[in-house]
Amino acid sequence: MEALVIVDVQNDFISGTLGTKEAEAIIEPLVNKINSFDGIILITKDTHDKNYLSTQEGQKLPVEHCIKGTFGWEIDSRLMEAIKDKGLDYRIFEKDTFGSISLGEHIVELYKDGKIDSIEFVGVCTDICVISNSLLVKAMLPELPVRVDAACCAGVTPKAHEAALITMESCQIEIINNVEYSKHIKQ
Ligand SMILES: [Zn+2]
Repeated sequence: MEALVIVDVQNDFISGTLGTKEAEAIIEPLVNKINSFDGIILITKDTHDKNYLSTQEGQKLPVEHCIKGTFGWEIDSRLMEAIKDKGLDYRIFEKDTFGSISLGEHIVELYKDGKIDSIEFVGVCTDICVISNSLLVKAMLPELPVRVDAACCAGVTPKAHEAALITMESCQIEIINNVEYSKHIKQ
């Protein structure tokens, strides 16, 4: 069975304080993916406290986002509806930084129990939390095939998105549906 990791598709990263039109554009393909998916869904939630601005992350990125309990912290409702309508099994991992060790440990357990034989990552931001978590899983489970669907990911900027895809591909993560990147390679 396959696991689909949906990274940080929360209102603040779509339409909120750190939203982008590229992030909004992944919702439709992501809902379509969920509608045809039949496996285990793992969801990460960027989760900060009210003291965010005094944290390391907050000092480097002084934009409050994903404060626990706020609307911006919630997962995009279109995704949650699709998951619930389909009756898919899902689990949520709150994380206070980019990579989630508890997500990685859970994936190791699923793999050791023979419940998954491949994993795919989608979500935001390609160049921060998608890359952090996909490389974390690659480090913990070198024999598990790891894939990223570029059409269901958005970066801080399109350029940062592309750069992250190239880096993940260097680290033997399979990148699918990357139209822009394929164009770039042919030149
Ligand atoms: Zn954050």
